[in-house]
Amino acid sequence: MFGVVPKPLWERRISADARNRIPLALRCLLVEHPDGLVLIDTGLGNKEDAKFRDIYGVQNEGKGGRTLLEDALAELRYGPDEIRWVINTHLHFDHAGGNTYREPVERAPDGPTVRPSDRPTLVSFPRATYVVQQGELEFARHTNERTAASYLPHNFEPVAFRTIDGAAGEHVCFLADLVPTSAHLPLPWIMGYDLQPLVTLESKRQLYRRAEAEGWLLFFEHDPVVVAGRLGREGKGFGLVEALRAG
Ligand SMILES: [Zn+2]
Repeated sequence: MFGVVPKPLWERRISADARNRIPLALRCLLVEHPDGLVLIDTGLGNKEDAKFRDIYGVQNEGKGGRTLLEDALAELRYGPDEIRWVINTHLHFDHAGGNTYREPVERAPDGPTVRPSDRPTLVSFPRATYVVQQGELEFARHTNERTAASYLPHNFEPVAFRTIDGAAGEHVCFLADLVPTSAHLPLPWIMGYDLQPLVTLESKRQLYRRAEAEGWLLFFEHDPVVVAGRLGREGKGFGLVEALRAG
């Protein structure tokens, strides 16, 4: 998660388990907009096999075989069919995995064996318009050896996307993987997954300039503790002020 930053440095901010894993959230943002509910990112979903769940230590089993995201929506008394818009920041499996779900296997006592992977994949939010950047959809559909493991077609191929091109003005900023946790606030602390760290560095610099000047509220998708905050100065670097914590 920290790319070229050495473990002795990042470990002071987040400690790792015996398998070198760190806790990460899969936090999605729900906007109660007058035009309908907007869901930004859909987390990891619940379609991957036991090996995948073990590697990443996934805890996303929801009631009735769905996901913690859908459980959280239910706590707000929203059903999946009440979501009007789904916006994917991008199509990595940890952001778009909940776009779709697989029908659970019904165990007929003497019927033929059905593997979970043989079940049809359906959209999780059937009445929503799913939105993604056109360039990202093309990128996801044309993977190479470095990117293929992040883009799993069953998360985006069953979806009829409305694609957009370019940015919209915003005052609340959902950081997604640009700054995945508050530990990644220092400009050069960039994930090893990042394909263009130097571009990311400049994107962070530009975003910080505006976020600081205009007092944006920044949301962290992967921080297990810090949900959001505003950018402030901490010594020579950047820190968070008005941090909003989980729980
Ligand atoms: Zn991510």
